Amino acid sequence: MTLTLPAVETPVATPVETKTAPKISEALRLGAMSTKQAFNAFHPKPDKFCAMGTIMHAVGFENTETELMWEFMGANCDVSPILRDCCASNPNFTTIWAAIIHLNDGHRMPRDQIADRLAAVGL
Ligand SMILES: [Zn+2]
Repeated sequence: MTLTLPAVETPVATPVETKTAPKISEALRLGAMSTKQAFNAFHPKPDKFCAMGTIMHAVGFENTETELMWEFMGANCDVSPILRDCCASNPNFTTIWAAIIHLNDGHRMPRDQIADRLAAVGL
């Protein structure tokens, strides 16, 4: 006698949802489309954000992507390509977020231009 096992349906693999944080430059461009730029303040009015605030606004203030992005932007690195033609030699700027804040507040650079600089270095 042959024992026949019932056919077991192979479960269909559910695709693992991998979330990828948007590029910093893309988040900045996206957020700038619906908000005004603020200077020397992160988020002084409901529709105004500095460049950093704009990025966080676009990604969402409290989620994993934002935490990762915040951690990444706060890590020490060579930011001279982002600060080219301005204060690239200033040793006080060693993180991406410091560079972004400097361009936003120190140079009052429009956010799309800051995004251009970030995109130029692959961020
Ligand atoms: Zn500068």
